[in-house]
Amino acid sequence: MAQEDDVTMVLAGQPGIRDWQEGVYRDLHQHPELGHQEVRTAAAVAAELRARGFEVSEAVGSTGVVGILRNGDGPVVLMRADMDALPIQESTGLPYASVERATDAGGNEVPVMHACGHDAHAACLLGAARLLAERTDAWRGTYIALFQPAEELADGAESMLRGGLADLIPQPDVAFAQHVLPFPAGQVGTLAGPVLSSGDSLRVTVWGRGSHGSMPQLSVDPVVLASTIVLRLQGIVSREVTPGEFAVLTVGRLVSGSKSNIISDRAVLDLNIRTFSETTRATIIDAVHRIVEGECTASGSPRPPEFELYDHFPLTRNDAATTQRVAAAFGRHFGDQAVALKRQSASEDFSAIPDALGVPYTYWGVGSVDPERYAAAAEAGTVSTDIPANHSPEFAPVIGPTLKTGTAAAVVAALAWLGAGAAAGDPAEEPR
Ligand code: ZN
Ligand code: ZN
Repeated sequence: MAQEDDVTMVLAGQPGIRDWQEGVYRDLHQHPELGHQEVRTAAAVAAELRARGFEVSEAVGSTGVVGILRNGDGPVVLMRADMDALPIQESTGLPYASVERATDAGGNEVPVMHACGHDAHAACLLGAARLLAERTDAWRGTYIALFQPAEELADGAESMLRGGLADLIPQPDVAFAQHVLPFPAGQVGTLAGPVLSSGDSLRVTVWGRGSHGSMPQLSVDPVVLASTIVLRLQGIVSREVTPGEFAVLTVGRLVSGSKSNIISDRAVLDLNIRTFSETTRATIIDAVHRIVEGECTASGSPRPPEFELYDHFPLTRNDAATTQRVAAAFGRHFGDQAVALKRQSASEDFSAIPDALGVPYTYWGVGSVDPERYAAAAEAGTVSTDIPANHSPEFAPVIGPTLKTGTAAAVVAALAWLGAGAAAGDPAEEPR
């Protein structure tokens, strides 16, 4: 059928770019950079895009890069890749493993590793951009390749919006992003609706009255106050959230005091909240406020508690029609390797961009584990212990099939809007 002809034409170039693309990936992997410090990565990305004929904007936000390839009238497709790495000491033992170190935002020297696969995302998007640029006879419209900084810091997408992204690009008709995940390489996974949780960090400071440890009657003890708060918070998910609704509330950090015989004057609690619905998110945050304020009153706290929301990741909710169209195109191209993605409790800031621009989007997963290794672990029931997941110091996508599949997925999705067959009718309704 017409659309698959477009895909065949563009992907015919894939074997010819394989060595170049794997070289790009190894180079990025060996030289990871923390969020908002992706200077080398951004320069490499910008140079590649320019070489393929894209109009390029650099330093969008902090280190963001946007490439635009205009190819006549037609839809505008935006695809995002992220570029940042993590403060993790790599232990993959790969010949191209990172030995880089960097200074983080807090001034600490840390090891750096591409432990979330953002190097693969960048290499796949550069590959798709190159393939589309080499076969402009196979499609019409505009392709925007967007490389964002600092996904792991939850503010890279926002920084590009604040940096004037909307004025740099034509209004997209659709936006895509993809992520390598620990399932078999060769597979792509789609899911309509909520796919990644929203994530919030909430810092709560409660106040006591300091005193000598031997004179508790003179104090308001913030350790006792914080302890009751931690226990009361456990009731929110079990007693206030609708049963079956996904919600996590974790107190990841609790700090008070300095010495056994001093009653401190404050306690700080850092909470992490994950949900798949804005309503549930609001329910939890309201309940945290109510419980903390109530416990402070009950303890006779001398000052009102303070709340600071930070590291907010929006909910990633895939548009149903967009996802259906992409999933149908994946089904035609990948056959039974096009699978249903499970909901992920992780979070992403990608959706901030399409949400701000008013663009429907879909975000899919790309397998990254050697299929035989995965099958063996699945048979032994040891996937969770034997297959290193994202953010593990041993996370190591198998290069060949991961890049090939991620690149093909980016091309197939783009051509579902830009290809000659895309305008003929709703591809979702064509037979497979
Ligand atoms: Zn990550
Ligand atoms: Zn990631």
